[in-house]
Amino acid sequence: MTDHAQRAASFVADDARLHWHDKAVWFVRNKRDVARSFVPEWEELRSLGSQIKAHTLSRLADYLEQFERNALAAGAKVHWARDAGEHNQIVHGILRERGVTRLVKSKSMLTEECHLNEHLEENGIEVVDTDLGERIVQLRREPPSHIVMPAIHLKKEEIGELFHERLGTPVGLSDPKKLTEAARGHLREKFLGAQAGLTGVNFAIASTGGVVVCTNEGNADLGTSLPPIHIACMGVEKLVPSPRELAVFLRLLARSATGQPITTYTSHFHGPRPGAEMHIVIVDHGRSAILAREEYRSSLKCIRCAACLNTCPVYRRSGGHSYGVSVAGPIGSILAPHVDAKKHAGLPFASSLCGSCSDVCPVRIDLHHQLFAWRGELAARGLVPVQKRIVSRIAAWVLARPWAYRLFGKLFRVVGPRVPNPWTRQRDLPPMPRESFRAQWRKRVQPR
Ligand code: SF4
Repeated sequence: MTDHAQRAASFVADDARLHWHDKAVWFVRNKRDVARSFVPEWEELRSLGSQIKAHTLSRLADYLEQFERNALAAGAKVHWARDAGEHNQIVHGILRERGVTRLVKSKSMLTEECHLNEHLEENGIEVVDTDLGERIVQLRREPPSHIVMPAIHLKKEEIGELFHERLGTPVGLSDPKKLTEAARGHLREKFLGAQAGLTGVNFAIASTGGVVVCTNEGNADLGTSLPPIHIACMGVEKLVPSPRELAVFLRLLARSATGQPITTYTSHFHGPRPGAEMHIVIVDHGRSAILAREEYRSSLKCIRCAACLNTCPVYRRSGGHSYGVSVAGPIGSILAPHVDAKKHAGLPFASSLCGSCSDVCPVRIDLHHQLFAWRGELAARGLVPVQKRIVSRIAAWVLARPWAYRLFGKLFRVVGPRVPNPWTRQRDLPPMPRESFRAQWRKRVQPR
């Protein structure tokens, strides 16, 4: 079994959680469909978003230089990091030089990818994630399980228990509104005591040198307007040419992520406010290597909306932690092997290749094609386990021969029901019919 399969097995062992998680994530996918239906030009917007990203990536070095020039002119300091290690050192260096020991952070998948929290904590800096879901998983000392809804794998009762232990809320309190109020009080103190604020970056505008951060909780705004230092961390792929193109992505992002017409707060930062400092850390961490690979290049168009996670039948039924990486789901399964192909060789197989991810992606990334390409590449590099290779060869042989397919189908109908199948047991599926669909159909249309 691959690492993903092993972790997924423990997730599906909890039948109730599996069904509940599946439903909760699918609910968000449905909300996205409704929101999308109110935009008649949706498909054109998707094409436009994809083309803008393709254009920007094709001139990335020029746009990065233009962005740096304009950000410096606006008064920000710009730092360049080749990889996660350099990124962590740069952020730590900024904080150390200014004697900062308390940092508040809004949601940033890049800093998850770089394991920034761990690095800063090892160096004596208190880091407080201020997005509610992020704070919940941080208090549990676990990573987020979803890009947009980091604690979607948890029930409100579990959060109630956690808050009772860590924040002193009454025993058994599980009302979401009251729990949110408790978190708000706890976080307000952290905001007031913070010496620096760190945010991610949803979009960076080359023509203005500004960065844009989208949140629903306003935590990025508080975290950057109270302390005197703002650090914004961004991957090189976050660029858009100008505010005109930004408008396309703002329309696509919120609808694809949560089914909202717009995120509650879309905050623009163009240089520091008077008397404060702003630092922008631009990180590569393997992105230019992806850019150099034509078959995978378009994965850099990703705007981290998580629509591909919400629709993925494997993600919904195996949970985000089963992927073992900061970005789970189809897009994570494409990005992770670029960082460590051996370690993450199982992830491209965590997909049914149904193509639903590609259908919902707001920037038209051909996700299922790239997952398929990875499978071939991993097999060619000898990184696919022998058992999987044997099963795949047998399946390919059978599927290429209709007579063999029929024969195996008949055999399965005889043998299948006698073989214990943990999946059918756990998912409450009806037993496999003993007769073929064709036979059932004949009975229905030609009743005796
Ligand atoms: S790959 Fe597409 S659908 Fe998935 S998170 Fe990125 S932009 Fe969203």
